[in-house]
Amino acid sequence: MADQRVQDKIAAVTGGGSGIGKASAIRLAQHGAKVYLLDRTPEEAEETVNEIESTGGSAEVIECDVSKPELVKQAFAQIAEKEGQVDIVYANAGINGTQAPIEKMEIEDWDRTIDINLRGTFATVKYAIPHMKENGGSIIITSSINGNRVFSNIGASAYSSSKAGQVAFMKMAALELARYGIRVNAVCPGAIETKINDNTYPSEELKQVQIPMEFPEGDQPLEKGPGKPEQVANLVLFLASDESFHVTGTEIFVDGAESLLRG
Ligand code: NAD
Repeated sequence: MADQRVQDKIAAVTGGGSGIGKASAIRLAQHGAKVYLLDRTPEEAEETVNEIESTGGSAEVIECDVSKPELVKQAFAQIAEKEGQVDIVYANAGINGTQAPIEKMEIEDWDRTIDINLRGTFATVKYAIPHMKENGGSIIITSSINGNRVFSNIGASAYSSSKAGQVAFMKMAALELARYGIRVNAVCPGAIETKINDNTYPSEELKQVQIPMEFPEGDQPLEKGPGKPEQVANLVLFLASDESFHVTGTEIFVDGAESLLRG
């Protein structure tokens, strides 16, 4: 067993069934946390639980679509009823959503991206607070380089707006919740090898408005190709643990310097 950096902490990870959320849930469990996986695809999240349990960790799935606030509220109430409190919240669930020129972007498609990525983050934090206020804790949000340092993905106006909104919300929450000893930070990954990036080929319409980039998408100055979910998970573990005790209200880029070239 690794040294226990979040021993006996109760953690909730949204989108814990895949990619960055899955790697982070595994990392938190390896370091002693009991992890609740809130995901809209519970079958996948069960696989994360199996992996965690096979190495002696503890985890459970709660089926939850973060774009449905009443389900998020119920999920946190369920955790609190069982555990008494919540110590670590990782608001990570997200989608790329529809990419289209602004003129062609359907209002429903814009709303769907914002509902899951931004409103879902708000609901996750809102309904966690009552169960964190007494003892303090750490909230981490997965934003992105897109919408913060990088604005080159033409067509991703909804996604980038949701990711920028998450950082603004994180800063407001960090100030508001400091009085309870709750820290709030965001991680901003560059391209990471997960299934979110499968099948995201630009449409012909989009290709016409895109600006050609010299720097190939997905490559990062530090290493060729995208980063790994575990590289984000290591940062999440640090932000979740008391090692980051004085860190709040900050967005941290984990992108191998990709954003410095593409930004
Ligand atoms: P992923 O598709 O592998 O995982 C996303 C997870 O979120 C899945 O388990 C999915 O079921 C869950 N999810 C999606 N919508 C949900 C909803 N409404 N309610 C509950 N769960 C939901 O993708 P990932 O790359 O691991 O994405 C995680 C986060 O990282 C997202 O917020 C994404 O925007 C962000 N991000 C990813 C990259 C990248 O290149 N992979 C880069 C920057 C930011």
